[in-house]
Amino acid sequence: DALGPTVCVGEILVEIVATTVGDGFLEAQPLVGPFASGAPAIFISQCGRLGGKAAMVGAVGDDDFGRVNTDRLKRDGVDVSAISIDPDYPTGSAFVRYRKDGSRDFVYNIATSAAARFGWSQTVGDLIDRSGHLHVMGSALSVPSAREVIDKAVDIVKARGGTLSVDPNIRKELKLDGDTERRFSKLVAMADLLLPSGEELERAAGVEGEAEAIRRLFEIGVKEVVLKRGADGATYFGGQGDRIDAPAFVVQEVDPTGAGDCFGGAYLTCRRLGMSQQQALTYASAAGARNVTVLGPMEGAGTRRELDAFIASTERRP
Ligand code: ATP
Ligand code: MG
Repeated sequence: DALGPTVCVGEILVEIVATTVGDGFLEAQPLVGPFASGAPAIFISQCGRLGGKAAMVGAVGDDDFGRVNTDRLKRDGVDVSAISIDPDYPTGSAFVRYRKDGSRDFVYNIATSAAARFGWSQTVGDLIDRSGHLHVMGSALSVPSAREVIDKAVDIVKARGGTLSVDPNIRKELKLDGDTERRFSKLVAMADLLLPSGEELERAAGVEGEAEAIRRLFEIGVKEVVLKRGADGATYFGGQGDRIDAPAFVVQEVDPTGAGDCFGGAYLTCRRLGMSQQQALTYASAAGARNVTVLGPMEGAGTRRELDAFIASTERRP
């Protein structure tokens, strides 16, 4: 932590969730929200709650949806000075409804919201100049303004001896344009920590098969990989061929959204606070599992004390 805060750049949203399971939004129906959301915001919230120095770069509108987010991140201990307030555009939003099979229908307003309207500024530059770690969410790369900030920030942070983590967070089917794909590959190769989930591992490595993908990632320069497998747990891979499997905690899943982001925020923060991979994996698994027990994408993100209590009282899968 000595080098300065962990910074995350990207979309800040509210999420509004249908309270019934079914197909989409074609009829009037009960909804609950707004909840603070956006993968980068969930990640940084978990960092702050765990007691890591953390800061967010992004934008909200001058409206209550924006205040839901900035108030929330402030309470978590996150530096929000580089979140700009757009006078003209509303805060980004996502309406989500779960289908019977667990998949989701979305109505998004991101590209034409404040979430996509920010860029490099004096305030952002000052923050990056004193930050020690940059976390990049793949989802942010489809937002041009976030891409510009990330491109500049990664070089500055690395040049001052800081580190980079990347959560690909891109579904396998999603085709990126050539330029975005090249940026994504460059970021992956520069990552000190890569946090893929499921098939994202092979997508990030560009080869099939788990073992081949891991080998390839270390070849291109990645330092540490933690693979997320939902209710099946997670696995740490190190460059020396070392591996640690972390079984998942047994919980009642209420809302799976945000598990991976909380997991990543907790893992990274614990590592930056000096914990071993094993200990960081335990906190990360607890953070992911705890978050799925609560409705809302970051409502279950735990503090150190809450995660300690969760770990002490929750069984792990054999
Ligand atoms: P996201 O939907 O946020 O993108 P992800 O796909 O990136 O999620 P997951 O693998 O779903 O990430 O979840 C991350 C971690 O959280 C898992 O490795 C596991 O430790 C924990 N976790 C997630 N879901 C559950 C669950 N149902 N039960 C127990 N632990 C879970
Ligand atoms: Mg994910």
